[in-house]
Amino acid sequence: MIPDYLICLECESPVYVFEWKEDRVVEAICTVCGNEDVAQFATEQEYEELSVDRRYWSD
Ligand SMILES: [Zn+2]
Repeated sequence: MIPDYLICLECESPVYVFEWKEDRVVEAICTVCGNEDVAQFATEQEYEELSVDRRYWSD
């Protein structure tokens, strides 16, 4: 299933312009910060999991 949007991990903005193939992002560009490294984008679900991890790390 293709997500509605991705989240740019550089500036935490939603990104609606991306290419999705076989359960992962193959191309994306953040119009806010110019990030185009696909490793620096997450789906909403992945982002929530990362946020949980970050909270855990900061303890
Ligand atoms: Zn960005």
